[in-house]
Amino acid sequence: MTKLLIVEDSKFFSSLLEKRVESELEIPVVAVPDMASAKETIAKMKDDFFLALLDLTLPDAPNGEIVEYVRSQEIPVVVFTGTFSEQMREDILAKGVIDYVTKDSPSSVDYLISLTNRIWKNRSLTAMVVDDSKTARMVTAGHLARYQFKVLEAADGLEALALVNESKERNAESIPLVITDFNMPKMDGFDLIRELRKDWTKEQMAIIGISAMGSNTLSAKFIKIGANDFITKPFLPEEFLCRISQNMDNLEQLQALRDAATKDYLTGMYNRRFFFDVARPVFAAAKRKESDLMVAMIDLDFFKSVNDNYGHDVGDEVLSGIAQVLLKSTRETDIVARMGGEEFCLLAPAMIPGMAEYYLESLREKIASLTFSAGGSDFSITASIGATCLRAETLDAMIGDADDKLYKAKESGRNRVVIDV
Ligand code: GH3
Ligand code: MG
Ligand code: MG
Repeated sequence: MTKLLIVEDSKFFSSLLEKRVESELEIPVVAVPDMASAKETIAKMKDDFFLALLDLTLPDAPNGEIVEYVRSQEIPVVVFTGTFSEQMREDILAKGVIDYVTKDSPSSVDYLISLTNRIWKNRSLTAMVVDDSKTARMVTAGHLARYQFKVLEAADGLEALALVNESKERNAESIPLVITDFNMPKMDGFDLIRELRKDWTKEQMAIIGISAMGSNTLSAKFIKIGANDFITKPFLPEEFLCRISQNMDNLEQLQALRDAATKDYLTGMYNRRFFFDVARPVFAAAKRKESDLMVAMIDLDFFKSVNDNYGHDVGDEVLSGIAQVLLKSTRETDIVARMGGEEFCLLAPAMIPGMAEYYLESLREKIASLTFSAGGSDFSITASIGATCLRAETLDAMIGDADDKLYKAKESGRNRVVIDV
């Protein structure tokens, strides 16, 4: 279920959509011009499609017959059309279509692209609906399932909290979207939001309050207590979809901004600045508790010659490969970061000093045993490691000590570990 099906007889519109989906979303597209070829394609590769974008008027299916057919094959559908009427809208929505778009402006292509992207991403996201009315819950859950979310349901705040905590304990994916009613037995919507906000920020979990018409103060209160947004009942499915999509887009943009500020673009590791942000409290705790702590500086040997011999792109691949080894070889409580160029830092709070040298030796060997291929030949690279388990007054001083040891490792021949325990 990784491809997009487009059924559209206008060659211009079809290839415009296809190009943009493939280049902007990197999603493969299969485009066909009529119902007959759509049927053929679906017969061959039905399970390949996560979504179909359908033109309502096709040469061999002038009255939207394609919609019913594709829905009968259980492929989610978005419709686009040149003409629009209220009757048409009702017919389409009754067939379980996700959304409809009129082809009347260039922005409709933008909308189709962002909607396709949203549906693509929703498939791996879990949404939770919290409402004591079973009917209301079912309606909301039905919408969310149509937008391809995995859906959890809870009848009150307590049940909702239990579900969130359970998925946290199972280490399952987090729940980035919660839609909650206000009035519920046991725990109401406001108390639920207060509880959730102890663990999840607005950037991690979008909470949308549902309030009934005519209770404007309730809507405002939802926001004040910590909801990202509210929606007033009764709502149109189109409005609901827009609100949900906008909130999920915001969440993702904020996360992308945060990643850009804290992570190194090439390796996905923490960058130098963020390393200090997360390492300082860990250092302070170790100092207070007088517990073990190791700082290691890892610097690749003669890395410049990799760039000189094979080019900068290969150098980048090597850096990513080494970063993966470091990330895989460390514990969840360790902090690893790319400090600059070809230099990495590891802060390991649970390292027993007696084990440190053995651990770093095995890390050094893992790096040395990696092979890379470029320009028809294989090569490998080594690293020098300087480390200390002696706690200094400050984190910076401890890093300085590890740096001194790294210098010694380089001086005495590279590809070795020098450590103070
Ligand atoms: P030594 O064993 O003494 O550490 O030698 P070295 O060549 O590894 O060290 P040096 O500091 O002389 O060179 C580091 C090189 O790393 C120089 C720089 O061009 C390269 N470098 C830094 N950042 C990147 C990067 O993001 N990508 C690539 N490909 N190279 C980088
Ligand atoms: Mg180096
Ligand atoms: Mg260096």
